[in-house]
Amino acid sequence: MSRYSAWQIVKQGLTGNKSWEPAWRDASPKSSYDVIIIGGGGHGLATAYYLAKNHGITNVAVIEKGWIGGGNAGRNTTIVRSNYFMEGNTEFYEHSLKLWENLSQELNYNVMFSQRGHLNLFFTPGQRDAMIRKYNIMRLNGIDGELLDRDQLMSKVPHLNYSQEARLPILGALYQGRAGTARHDAVNWGYARAASNLGVDIIQNCEVTGFISNGGQLVGVETSRGEIRAEKVGMAVAGSTSLLAHKAGLGRLPIESHKLQAFVSEPIKPFLDSVVVYGVGHGHFYISQSDKGGMVFGGNLDGYNSYAQKGNLPLYTDVASCAMNMMPALGRVKLLRQWAGIMDMSMDGSPFITKTDINGLYLNAGWCYGGFKATPASGWCFAHTIAHDAPHDVNKLLTLDRYKTGHMLDESGHGPYPKSH
Ligand SMILES: Cc1cc2nc3c(=O)[nH]c(=O)nc-3n(C[C@H](O)[C@H](O)[C@H](O)COP(=O)(O)OP(=O)(O)OC[C@H]3O[C@@H](n4cnc5c(N)ncnc54)[C@H](O)[C@@H]3O)c2cc1C
Repeated sequence: MSRYSAWQIVKQGLTGNKSWEPAWRDASPKSSYDVIIIGGGGHGLATAYYLAKNHGITNVAVIEKGWIGGGNAGRNTTIVRSNYFMEGNTEFYEHSLKLWENLSQELNYNVMFSQRGHLNLFFTPGQRDAMIRKYNIMRLNGIDGELLDRDQLMSKVPHLNYSQEARLPILGALYQGRAGTARHDAVNWGYARAASNLGVDIIQNCEVTGFISNGGQLVGVETSRGEIRAEKVGMAVAGSTSLLAHKAGLGRLPIESHKLQAFVSEPIKPFLDSVVVYGVGHGHFYISQSDKGGMVFGGNLDGYNSYAQKGNLPLYTDVASCAMNMMPALGRVKLLRQWAGIMDMSMDGSPFITKTDINGLYLNAGWCYGGFKATPASGWCFAHTIAHDAPHDVNKLLTLDRYKTGHMLDESGHGPYPKSH
């Protein structure tokens, strides 16, 4: 397939844009593969790409029950950052951010990664101390981060609610300048195109309905389009993890499925050129502006478990009031759309990229509401784990073993109360 380039745009423009090729092959399933990846979200597609690119394993199928990017990969608010605190997460998310920084060039596809900076507001001296501690740890690990006082923050984002009469008077913010946003669809399409170019089959409208084993060894999957055999099967199905794990006989996992909503306003003129967030304690709210001008924002999880990809009214009103509280000017803006995705909430707020107790079955899950930023490193590490039957250094703490030995990583995890993340 030809490379995208300025020359291609000129050529296509002069010839009526008639000869663009489809970005990836819409493949039909073969009877067997070396590796099957279940789930055509960002993580599944990235895994297939890195299997082919980094490990030379190209006889790979990505099996998706709907259309690629129709799950959380195409429903999220696209915040990318690496301001994590705990060993295990710190190095993993920084590895991801480094991959993001070169992703458009690597995939030859503009994923619209915009390093516009991420501001995490604080409102009390206690919150400030906790965040300073987190950023000191980041800086000790070579990750950028700085503390902004109220005046510095005001010069960066003048239209926050700085009134001392506000319910939450702002004291300052922690800032990561290399963080930002990317275009979710472009990330899925970019990985799909690059993987397909390397020989990976992307099979849409094909649901995995069961698993085929032979003497304790997984040898393939049953699908709505027939049986497909493989030596290795990787699961990257986010909110559907528990359902499929049950079918595979993995037993109960420390994961619950919860809904998370996102909201987009009508497009407005440039209003916000960074990502602004405030978290746990006083509520939870995050906002950025898309390239089309819409204000993209969200808040906490809905309060009950569900597989419905739509949200409920109480959270909707809660998020709207958080928006008004932080940026009163938004009160005049009309909301255009709202939807939800199903989050695979792990009990310690951290993910799994791991082998399982079933030979031939590998698990990628537990992304909570932070898996978009993880997409490149998740695919990179999952591919390594599948290819070598062992984790890479970067994901060695992200295995299921931590739940066997009691060495949980706690990253704003609230144990059995995932809805409080
Ligand atoms: C509203 C919202 C906001 C978010 N905001 C952010 C954010 O700002 N930053 C961030 O880092 N993260 C964010 N996230 C989280 C992030 O989107 C997810 O953690 C991440 O996308 C999950 O990985 P994925 O892309 O592979 O999942 P998905 O895109 O959900 O992929 C899983 C795929 O598996 C398929 N599947 C399921 N069962 C089967 C089956 N039986 N057979 C075949 N296929 C199957 C599904 O159809 C789906 O396409 C947000 C999520 C939501 C919903």
